[in-house]
Amino acid sequence: MPDDGHGHAELLATQLADAEAQRDGLAQSVAALRAARGSTFDDDEHDPEGSTLSLEQARESALLASAERRVAELVAAQRRLADGTFGVCEVCGRTIPAGRTAARPEATRCVPCIGARPGR
Ligand SMILES: [Zn+2]
Repeated sequence: MPDDGHGHAELLATQLADAEAQRDGLAQSVAALRAARGSTFDDDEHDPEGSTLSLEQARESALLASAERRVAELVAAQRRLADGTFGVCEVCGRTIPAGRTAARPEATRCVPCIGARPGR
């Protein structure tokens, strides 16, 4: 893994390991909930426990999706670090301040560009 001299490679590796551990944990709990729900699936509508399980499953699935997205973002950031485009805003092309990439190494936009386009 090449580094840019600011420790981003190490930071990304650490955060990626954390994100992957979180994702794996969530994947397990989603699978466990699915298995638990499978036995009560038939009368989900009338079974209070079944609907609690499906709510829980929806919540865990959403967390899992966001953990997967974070893993993908961190992997993409490692790729940018490797090809030399790390830390460059994808919108305006300016350098993202090191303070920001240290806090969020997966960031692909500088703060003003994030502000200009909410929802990302
Ligand atoms: Zn920008």
